[in-house]
Amino acid sequence: MKLVDAHTHRVPHDPEQTALVDLLPGSPSSDSDEGCFYSCGIHPRDLGRFSMDELVETLCRIPCSAVGECGLDSSLTVGLEEQEKSFRAQIALSEELNLPLVVHCVRQYYELIRIRKELAPRQPWLIHGFRGNAEVGQALLGHGMILSLSPVWLLHQERFPEWLPDVSFLLETDESSLPLRDIYSHTAKLRGETMEELAGILQKTFDCWLFK
Ligand SMILES: [Zn+2]
Repeated sequence: MKLVDAHTHRVPHDPEQTALVDLLPGSPSSDSDEGCFYSCGIHPRDLGRFSMDELVETLCRIPCSAVGECGLDSSLTVGLEEQEKSFRAQIALSEELNLPLVVHCVRQYYELIRIRKELAPRQPWLIHGFRGNAEVGQALLGHGMILSLSPVWLLHQERFPEWLPDVSFLLETDESSLPLRDIYSHTAKLRGETMEELAGILQKTFDCWLFK
């Protein structure tokens, strides 16, 4: 049984885990860790810190399997117009390089849907750290996005949301110190299934999203 971490900033060094590890532009190549895939993007909080050229260079050099995290975050002081410009450039890059997109979104879910509708990208988008309500979640799924659930949000659920079908979600640790195994075991309990069953479903969803 392999556990999949759909978004993390740390290489897990654990043979039981597969992870999509988020790198900053300009990161040195790491020794290829078995079961590790990489993504690289310009987070809205890092606008001005990295250039698109640096990002492209890192994406091609590592090489990465996804673009991001990138997106919109209304909790930051950086203007949303500036954030959207960078986000659109990274969407274009994901299309050009044929790589799926990891999206960071804070309280801008409907803006995200507006942009996706307008651009109609071919690449699948993973909304990482999802912690919205059923209405928002269903709207995102309805527009072809997949949700990687925030571990803190999950811990506060008394039952697994029934509006989240099997192929629509993934699990992640992001910056949390919670072990992935605990997040899996909590989720499996909420869903009334074994960890093996959950792991099988999530492996399929992850492979489908990342490798089409
Ligand atoms: Zn992150």
